[in-house]
Amino acid sequence: MIIPIRCMSCGKPIGGLWQKFKERNGGANPGKLLDELGVKRYCCRALLMTHVDKLQDIAKFRA
Ligand SMILES: [Zn+2]
Repeated sequence: MIIPIRCMSCGKPIGGLWQKFKERNGGANPGKLLDELGVKRYCCRALLMTHVDKLQDIAKFRA
């Protein structure tokens, strides 16, 4: 839903990288992009690569 602020495995702050990753991810090699962003550990890389931003879809349904 919302990207976690810190990596759940190692604790590295990655929430601030999501916007850059999302903007530059269109068709590019995600591994190369993650290298450029300085994300080296595979726990953080997996978190960014597998995240699905569903907040806008879910926000339509108010309680
Ligand atoms: Zn990590």
